[in-house]
Amino acid sequence: MKDKRRVVVKIGTNVMTNRDNRIMGPVLKNLVRQIAFLYENDIMPVMVSSGSAIAGKEILGECGIQEPSIRRQIYSSVGQPRMMRHYYTLFHEWGLRCAQVLATKRDFSPGNHRKNMINCYEGLISEGIIPIANEDDTVSLTMSMFSDNDELAALVAELIHADTLIILTDIDGLFDGHPDDENANLIRLVKSDEKVEKYVKQSNKEEGQGRGGMKSKLKIAKNAASKGIVTYIANGKKENVILDILDGKEVGTKFIK
Ligand code: GLU
Repeated sequence: MKDKRRVVVKIGTNVMTNRDNRIMGPVLKNLVRQIAFLYENDIMPVMVSSGSAIAGKEILGECGIQEPSIRRQIYSSVGQPRMMRHYYTLFHEWGLRCAQVLATKRDFSPGNHRKNMINCYEGLISEGIIPIANEDDTVSLTMSMFSDNDELAALVAELIHADTLIILTDIDGLFDGHPDDENANLIRLVKSDEKVEKYVKQSNKEEGQGRGGMKSKLKIAKNAASKGIVTYIANGKKENVILDILDGKEVGTKFIK
């Protein structure tokens, strides 16, 4: 397969869940449709998807284990196959294959795990299989934990030499005020050395099940952009968000070097 341009798309838990923390199939379907479109149009998409913990909660309901880190391990290990069943089925409808690549932060340090991971991504990509990364929440605790899947997505983008990283959340991007304030404006373009942290006001809507908030997204987006990876923070619930971004339409907040 000839070398295609690579784009990493990160889907946060808040994108795929409703107010009752249930996974919304139509949202995943819409995102997979766009990712399949990229694949068909000479772009190699690599996904990073959260959702295992919330999917596990959906299956198990309340869990008798009180220790939060063990609860997270239990929910994620139960929910991960459910997430992959969603993705398997949705990609299959487009005649595409996908694969799961789980990792902890340690796997990105120089050494064998990093090399193995590169071989795995390159192998999947050369076979035309869409990799879907997630943190290995079953063993990723304390030192080996990513700050959130946004950090994982940026590390994957660097690892596979993606030119673009799209971080999808449930708000439209970075605003110059509180995102719920109707006078706040969406900031369209941020340079990686620009001081825009003062604008971060956590949206109420964003305080869901996922770990990363806007403060963390901003830090990660600026850092990725400083390494030459054009990065977007945008609303994953908008119908054509991924395609519009790659079409050069004014969607979300764009971060450049
Ligand atoms: N890895 C977690 C999951 O699949 C999500 C981590 C995050 O929220 O960034 O549920």
